[in-house]
Amino acid sequence: MPGKWDWLKDEIGFSNLLTGGKMLLKVISGKLSVDDLTKCALCPNMCRHTCPVSIVDGRETTSPAGKARVAFMIREGRLELNLENLEPLYMCLSCNICTLYCPFEFSVADLTRPINEEAVKKGVVFEEFKKVFENLENYGDVYGAKSEEENGKGKVLYIRGCTIRNELPELSEKALSLLKKLGFEVFTINETCCGIPAYNLGNVELFKKLADENAKKINQSKAELVITSCPSCAYAYRVLYPKYGVKLKPKVVHITEILGDRLKGLKAEGEVTYHNPCKLALGLDQKELLKDILNKIEGLTVKEPRKEFFCCGYGGSAISRLNPELAEEIAQERRKQLKDGADKVITACPSCKLALNSDELEVLDIVEFAHQLLGE
Ligand code: SF4
Ligand code: SF4
Repeated sequence: MPGKWDWLKDEIGFSNLLTGGKMLLKVISGKLSVDDLTKCALCPNMCRHTCPVSIVDGRETTSPAGKARVAFMIREGRLELNLENLEPLYMCLSCNICTLYCPFEFSVADLTRPINEEAVKKGVVFEEFKKVFENLENYGDVYGAKSEEENGKGKVLYIRGCTIRNELPELSEKALSLLKKLGFEVFTINETCCGIPAYNLGNVELFKKLADENAKKINQSKAELVITSCPSCAYAYRVLYPKYGVKLKPKVVHITEILGDRLKGLKAEGEVTYHNPCKLALGLDQKELLKDILNKIEGLTVKEPRKEFFCCGYGGSAISRLNPELAEEIAQERRKQLKDGADKVITACPSCKLALNSDELEVLDIVEFAHQLLGE
């Protein structure tokens, strides 16, 4: 009768020596060296209580270690690289909340991404993703919008990102107005998508092409500073571009990072809670920033949300396209958590605002809130 862990023991070559539990103890104590994906596949899912997908979806295969096991089996040729087996791997928000509770600080998204990349290279791609790739290839915009005119030069470049350009253009107007009020001489350019949707879906070639195009435009603009109010764009520029050797000359900041003390002393009334965007809080390691900015505003009561970190449901580019019902259920769970804090929520990401705004919850981007405080 085969044992539960035989498939892993075989892979590691200790089939006669250890049970899975003993093996895990050896791995944790550093006595047995295995690669990171195998470690995660062996793990008794220590971070599942914090993974939004696991909490809402509840399936074993979409739990953090469940995904690692499927990825491991595909990598080792024990499961076929087909759409059915890839589906659980794409049930990930790339939120990296698992890193907070993982003894190895793993991001399951990073561990399983090589399998998605291999699938894209071999043409094993969901129909839902093909349209995204087409839009990015043909228009450099995830929504497939045509490019605009160039409109300016200066020292400080404001990058809007695809979501603000297409879904929340008024947020871009407010950000530009806010930055001018704060003394920045800002301009915009005819942007290309930062490439993160392609990266999230495993199309690294397309990501690199977009990153190169983007870097060329930004570097040619001669800006000294890039400010964006999209955390995914900021994360792509600051973390992913250097990882792939793409050089941006100007420094890049998310708009919250320049607000700092600038809202200190402004006055507001009432209660708010806040929703930390994953790419800002965890991707750029700014876990306290949004809360700190709000706490500096006089008269404002800032309530902590029931969970400090929980994705809005629309991160990672895949779930909202492959399983929109699940994305919405995760958003609904987050709305409930936030509503325990206050009816008004401040966030700092256009996708989070779109995901969470609802009849029962007023969600404002920090740009809109700051703009209101400084006088519309
Ligand atoms: S990155 Fe987020 S959704 Fe993916 S496994 Fe980790 S916690 Fe879950
Ligand atoms: S990410 Fe870490 S805690 Fe979560 S399942 Fe993998 S090894 Fe375990």
